[in-house]
Amino acid sequence: MGEGWAREGVQAPSQPTESSAPVRLTGTFADARAASWGTVALVPTMGFLHEGHLSLIRTARDAADTVLVSIFVNPLQFDRADDLAAYPRDSHRDLELCRHAGVDVVFVPDAMEMYPTGPLTRVTVAGVADGMEGAHRPGHFAGVATVVTKLLAGLGPDRAHFGRKDAQQLAVVRTLVQDLSLPVEVVPGPTVREPDGLALSSRNVHLAGANRDRALGISRALFAAADAAEAGERSAEALVGVASRAMVHAGLEPDYVALADAHTMAPLAEVEGETVLATAAAVGGVRLIDNVVLTATGPSIVADRGTLLDEPSLLHR
Ligand code: AMP
Repeated sequence: MGEGWAREGVQAPSQPTESSAPVRLTGTFADARAASWGTVALVPTMGFLHEGHLSLIRTARDAADTVLVSIFVNPLQFDRADDLAAYPRDSHRDLELCRHAGVDVVFVPDAMEMYPTGPLTRVTVAGVADGMEGAHRPGHFAGVATVVTKLLAGLGPDRAHFGRKDAQQLAVVRTLVQDLSLPVEVVPGPTVREPDGLALSSRNVHLAGANRDRALGISRALFAAADAAEAGERSAEALVGVASRAMVHAGLEPDYVALADAHTMAPLAEVEGETVLATAAAVGGVRLIDNVVLTATGPSIVADRGTLLDEPSLLHR
C-alpha cells in the first residue's frame, strides 16, 4: 500500500446504531424545513446509498444538530433516457441505512414537488462545467446546478456535503454557491473505494463478472499516474499518458483523461496547487468516473486517492 491512503470502516447497518431517534420522512420542502432545527447539514443524493454516501453522512453528523439527506433521482441531469430508467432505486433500503446512520430527516420529493412547472428556470455554470463531463454529457451540469440550487434554496442548510468522487460536480457546486452568494458552506468528502480500489458508485450494481474486473482498470490507471506524480512527475502529458496507456491496456476506452485545476477545472500543463487527474469510461454499458487529487506543495506532490473500505461495500451484500 503506497502513501496517500487512508482506511476507514464506514458504519454498516449490521453494526450498532449511532442514534435510536426515528428518522423523519418528508416529501415537501416545507415539511423538511419544519422537521429541521439548529445547525443543519444537507447530504444531497440520488439514493441507492453506499458507504460513499454514509461517509458524507458521518461527517455531517459530527457537526450538525440536524442531518438532512435528500434522495431524488434528478431527471434533469440525465442526458440519456435509458440511463435514467436503469438508475438503481431502493427507497426502503435507503431509509434503513439513513436510520442506522443517525440521519434526522430524509427528504424524498416527487417530480411535482421539485419541478411543478417544467422547470422554466435553469442554473448554468460557465467555464467550470464546460470540459470533461460537461463536454461528454450535454446538459448534465445545468441539471445538477439547477437541482442543487433548489435544494439549497428550499432547505436552507448551513452546510452541504459533496463527495470528491464527483470532482467536477464539487467544483460546479462551489462555483454556483460563490457566484450566487448562497449562505452555505460546501464540505468535500473523500472518495470511498472498494478494498481493491474501485470507486463506489450506485451504478456499480450493474457491473458483473468480467466487467467488474475491467472496471478496476480505471482506479489502477489513476493510481499508476498518482505513483508517478509522487515520484516527481509533474507534466500533464506524462501523467495523462501513464493513465491512458494503463486504461487501454486494461481493455478500456476512456472518454477523456485530463489534468485540471480542482477549483476551476481549467486544463493544466502540469500539476499546480490542488489538481485533479480525472477520467471516465463506459464498462459494459455502465459509465463510470473517477479521479485522484494531486497537490503540489513546494517540490513534492501528494496524491489523495481517497479511502479504502476494509470489506466489500454494501453494494455487494
Ligand atoms: P449520487 O447519489 O451518486 O448522486 O451521489 C451523492 C453524493 O455522494 C455526491 O456528493 C457524490 O459525490 C457522493 N459520492 C458518490 N459516490 C461516492 C464515493 N465513492 N465516495 C465519496 N462520495 C461519493
